Amino acid sequence: MATIAENIRTLKRQIPGSVKIIAVSKTRSVDDILEVYNSGHRIFGENRVRELLGKKDKLPSDIEWHLVGHLQSNKVKYIVPFVNMIQSIDSHRLLSVVSREADRCGRVMPCLLQIHIAEEETKFGFSMDELKEIINNRGFNDLKNIRICGVMGMATFTDNQETIRREFKLLADYFRELKHNYFADSKDFNDISMGMSGDFKIAIEEGSTIIRIGTLIFGERK
Ligand SMILES: *Cc1c(COP(=O)(O)O)cnc(C)c1O
Repeated sequence: MATIAENIRTLKRQIPGSVKIIAVSKTRSVDDILEVYNSGHRIFGENRVRELLGKKDKLPSDIEWHLVGHLQSNKVKYIVPFVNMIQSIDSHRLLSVVSREADRCGRVMPCLLQIHIAEEETKFGFSMDELKEIINNRGFNDLKNIRICGVMGMATFTDNQETIRREFKLLADYFRELKHNYFADSKDFNDISMGMSGDFKIAIEEGSTIIRIGTLIFGERK
């Protein structure tokens, strides 16, 4: 069986150098994460605040951490001091809390807007209507300590490649629409985070700039 370090090297050979890989390390041990780190990779993602806080101090400080899972407002203050990006902004409240906490530690927090594209209702994310309303109203421009860098989305969990492709196309369309209508003057609004172990190839074909990979690097989760 290939080692973790070999897995990430194999993955890197399969994708364009311009696509960023987040090694999603949820449920993985510090030793497994170190194996990826020692292969030269520096960008990791976690979906739970408590788990992230428990691991990060046992790991090198030059890791770039991304939060990729649903974030509760009351936990924002614990991660804003050190994470590099919050990919899972899914409510207006979260936007304002992140901006407030970032202000407190003198930061401007890079964020992605999570958009709901899947058939499953359980997945988090804004609808485009909600998003437009938020951007148009409610003091959006007062969120000075947030830097909106693009969008994130998850496709339906299915083997149907056409469904997955249609959903990724939709997310890429939404990205372009938002960029054109609201972020044309922003030099930061550039990223589409889509694609996981099972669907990253389709995602890249449809314009992904960030893929979030767990299983293909670390093996199956228990
Ligand atoms: C777990 C997770 C991933 C990675 O999933 P794999 O299928 O293991 O690659 C990507 N994004 C999010 C938000 C996740 O929670």
